[in-house]
Amino acid sequence: MPRALITGITGQDGLYLAELLLSKGYDVFGMVRGQNNPKIELVERTVPGVHIVAGDLTDLSSLMRALNTSRPDEVYNLGAISFVAYSWEQAALTSDVTAKGVLNILEAVRLYCGDDLSKVKFYQASSSEMFGKVQQVPQSEETLLWPRSPYGVAKVYGHYMTINYRESYGMHASSGLLFNHESPRRGPEFVTRKVSLAVAGIKLGLQGKIVMGNLDARRDWGFAGDYVDAMWRMLQQPEGGDYVVATGETHSIRDLLDHAFRAAEIEDWEPYVDQDPKFFRPAEVDLLIGDASRARDVLGWTPTVTFSELVAMMVESDLKALSDRIA
Ligand code: GDP
Repeated sequence: MPRALITGITGQDGLYLAELLLSKGYDVFGMVRGQNNPKIELVERTVPGVHIVAGDLTDLSSLMRALNTSRPDEVYNLGAISFVAYSWEQAALTSDVTAKGVLNILEAVRLYCGDDLSKVKFYQASSSEMFGKVQQVPQSEETLLWPRSPYGVAKVYGHYMTINYRESYGMHASSGLLFNHESPRRGPEFVTRKVSLAVAGIKLGLQGKIVMGNLDARRDWGFAGDYVDAMWRMLQQPEGGDYVVATGETHSIRDLLDHAFRAAEIEDWEPYVDQDPKFFRPAEVDLLIGDASRARDVLGWTPTVTFSELVAMMVESDLKALSDRIA
């Protein structure tokens, strides 16, 4: 039975990846930080069968312990402080976890493997935020990185450190440059889930308005369940590599509002939407659209859920959850 260790198990991607690996017969270990972390209960409820191990990306010795306990064949580093807007407020903490945490886990894997670096395959969750002020449209593995937030800068460090461990030590280390990926499990601070929750609330008469930031930014949004499959496929290759994972379609926040309100059978959303500068960012990533040709050609990966299916799935899920709660 193959064994996998996932950092960031309590997040959207950790849960989907754990489900996928369990369905493939893996023994799955999920690393959780902190004492009495309330999200342990979420993991136990959503993906029963995952073994919880303690560890923190800022603490190298705790990572060694987690590796010695789980004895993994594959390590997926999904743990990070991942909300872009927050990364300006806590830039140093974001750097410690999202940047230096990658070095810590790579170094822990290297030490754990000893003389046999083929023992563990490593996945690093890199991000389309690294493209930032995009230098090319669409963005591919070759596009120059120009991050526009402390989060983006931290992810660039992790990306290059992963490549460096591959090149320096011959480690099977892969970096997935994943464009935005969403689902009903997305945190409510991200724009897709903020919108799906608000649309459901407005439809059910529980709230009057939604207050938004920049409506002109464009993102390439896919379904998280599809994207974790790309992660797994990367680690089944004979060698590590870097892959863009994206749908190749871009939509504005306005398009998102259109689709979400329409999914709740509300045609004119303007009366329900206000804007507040507090949701604008000090620097914006204007246009993300990914070229996932390499993932398609080498990994045989393609997305299965369209943008409108994704938005409808999220609105329907929130409508159901909110209706159940008020019933
Ligand atoms: P990100 O791409 O990782 O930053 O994902 P988000 O879902 O947080 O933001 C996506 C885009 O939506 C960014 O360009 C934001 O500026 C824009 N946006 C507009 N209004 C909002 C809002 O109210 N909340 C969030 N989170 N983003 C917003």
